[in-house]
Amino acid sequence: DGPGGRRITRSTCCYCGVGCGVLIHSERIAQGERITGVEGDPEHPANFGRLCSKGRTLADSARSLHGRALWPELRGRRQDARRPVDWALALDTVAERLAGIVERHGPDAVAFYISGQLLTEDYYVFNKLAKGLLGTNNIDTNSRLCMSSAVTGYKLAFGADGPPTCYEDLEHAKTVLFAGSNAAYAHPVLFRRLEEAKARDPDVRWIVVDPRRTDTAAMADLHLAIQPGTDVALFNGMLHHLVWEGLLDEAFIAAYTTGFPELKQLLRDYTPRMSAEICGVPVQDLVAAAEWFGRSPAALSLYCMGLNQSAHGTDKNLALIHLHLATRQLGRSGAGPFSLTGQPNAMGGREVGGMATMLAAHREIGDDAHRAEVEALWKLAPGSLSPRPGLAAVELFEALHSGKVKAVWIACTNPVHSMPDIGRVREALQRAEYVVVQEAFADTDTVPYADALLPASTWGEKDGTVTNSERRISRVRAAVAAPGQARPDWWIAREVARRIEARLAAPGAAPLFEADAPATIFDEHRALTVGRDLDIGGLDYLRLESDGPQQWPFPAAAAQGQARRYADGVFATADGRARFHATPYKPVAEPTSARYPLRLLTGRLRDQWHGMSRTGRVPELFAHSPEPGLRMHPDDAARRGLKIGELVRVSSKRGELVLPLELSDEVGSGTVFAAMHWSGQHLSSGGINEVSQPAVDARSRQPELKHAAVRVEKA
Ligand code: SF4
Repeated sequence: DGPGGRRITRSTCCYCGVGCGVLIHSERIAQGERITGVEGDPEHPANFGRLCSKGRTLADSARSLHGRALWPELRGRRQDARRPVDWALALDTVAERLAGIVERHGPDAVAFYISGQLLTEDYYVFNKLAKGLLGTNNIDTNSRLCMSSAVTGYKLAFGADGPPTCYEDLEHAKTVLFAGSNAAYAHPVLFRRLEEAKARDPDVRWIVVDPRRTDTAAMADLHLAIQPGTDVALFNGMLHHLVWEGLLDEAFIAAYTTGFPELKQLLRDYTPRMSAEICGVPVQDLVAAAEWFGRSPAALSLYCMGLNQSAHGTDKNLALIHLHLATRQLGRSGAGPFSLTGQPNAMGGREVGGMATMLAAHREIGDDAHRAEVEALWKLAPGSLSPRPGLAAVELFEALHSGKVKAVWIACTNPVHSMPDIGRVREALQRAEYVVVQEAFADTDTVPYADALLPASTWGEKDGTVTNSERRISRVRAAVAAPGQARPDWWIAREVARRIEARLAAPGAAPLFEADAPATIFDEHRALTVGRDLDIGGLDYLRLESDGPQQWPFPAAAAQGQARRYADGVFATADGRARFHATPYKPVAEPTSARYPLRLLTGRLRDQWHGMSRTGRVPELFAHSPEPGLRMHPDDAARRGLKIGELVRVSSKRGELVLPLELSDEVGSGTVFAAMHWSGQHLSSGGINEVSQPAVDARSRQPELKHAAVRVEKA
């Protein structure tokens, strides 16, 4: 500590998947401690001291206690108000209610819906509680809404989850293909690195594929403003051109991949002309994009929710990866497909297996040997882990709605804002027998549905690790004590778990929840990764302390982590070969109609994050976009007699909301745009997910949050 208890704590930003290092300044005051400022960590390899507007204002959001959940609250009956209680009663009650439901209805009557903003250690304990103790795989997270199509794309193409690339590639790429990514807003610090690389080298060219002319698209050398959802047709058309022009790496395809002949057959239907017609772009632009990509010394693609949040998100990811595989644009400096993670720790959650469709360390629920490995490592009796796949996010709330699932424990996320078709989610929570909400903030849209509210500590107050978009594990550290009775998420989950264990565990069973600090939980997690694709046998808190953030894989014998994967052409599939898959183009899940003639797109604002529970507390962050609004092309507004600023009703088959009208040619005629952030706290209704639709990708089970058919009229 310095004079006056002043201190600097090294940590990681809690917002996006860039994972910037921060230095938190704090001081001692009469009531305890407070955070006084945040600056970029000049030594962190993600950001080298840079921060965006959200990271720069972290201290302002962290200082405010307004709206914080400060003590546990319970209610006995749904119609009663919750009342503050002490931790012992809260933990006993939650454990008793959940254990009772498991005893009466079986383990799959309970579900967990957690968050890509939890730390890896929090995720680990929740996952062990659901799968190891209760015996249900019903644990999914808001990462399902974010990255699951990228995961299925990587697994189907390469045999394992995780990008083959690293941030250094941003500086070495000669052609950068942004697909469904407004990186200028969603990943600002990486975007600065790209801008600087482009300024240094005038030969660097950017292609942006996006139906909207976003700030990223406005800076592109070539903007392909495709019709929403037509990405697969575009990538297939580009690959058709590369085949025709002989721009493939035939030797690589023959030696290191399978499935190309079948794909090549399919590609015959995707002539550039036909593909350009489907996409609504000039054919010469599609051909130029293919030429730039295929002839580039190093082509890097950066992609995000525009590909993932789609009923065909897996195919979109695969079709883009095909371009890289067919030209061997991967496994070397500046080249590769690079999914940019939305949330700060969607990657860490997958590493511990904290989702309904996976087990620890990228193992498969349906694989008998994988379940046996986890059972042995957790000291469970053979056959303890359920082979039944769990319910992914949309199915989970549907099962709550139908009564198949009786109780849900929601942690660090706000599904009454972020799920598609939130009217249905509200009904599901009303019908549930028991709802636990574990939250740092008491004023989210989901908290009113809680029978038990468990106050959690948040960024600046808790310890653990996160993994960013380039597979780099960084420490998150507490700078100040949590306010009131708030406790770390892992601690709350462990305390309930121990109580349930005392009631449900078989006599003589080994205790499951002995780890009592983030460092020892991390050690447990590390042991499960040994020998897996994400082996971190060489990493522990001491190593992270002495050597700073590290990339995986980092096995025990390694001196450092691996920056790029598959450089040797050996992939993580059973035969070591990458896979091509036939990816026919399929249209969006909800076509427009006479009744709903407009295409609604959703996305982010520059200075806000998710449902604004944190950024919404910082006045400065409203300067860029002060109000919610619906953006419409001026021609469409004129045809409807609508004027700028007037209130319009946006309706879909599922619901409606009222927004002020903004006019902009950023969207094409026939398309409107609304930001995802504004929620029931700011609007008379719950935000844009009143109208979004819950169709999911059959393989990734990620919903198509990016597109819905709507009608717009005067309110
Ligand atoms: Fe935080 Fe992302 Fe901004 Fe970095 S780019 S400061 S991680 S929000």
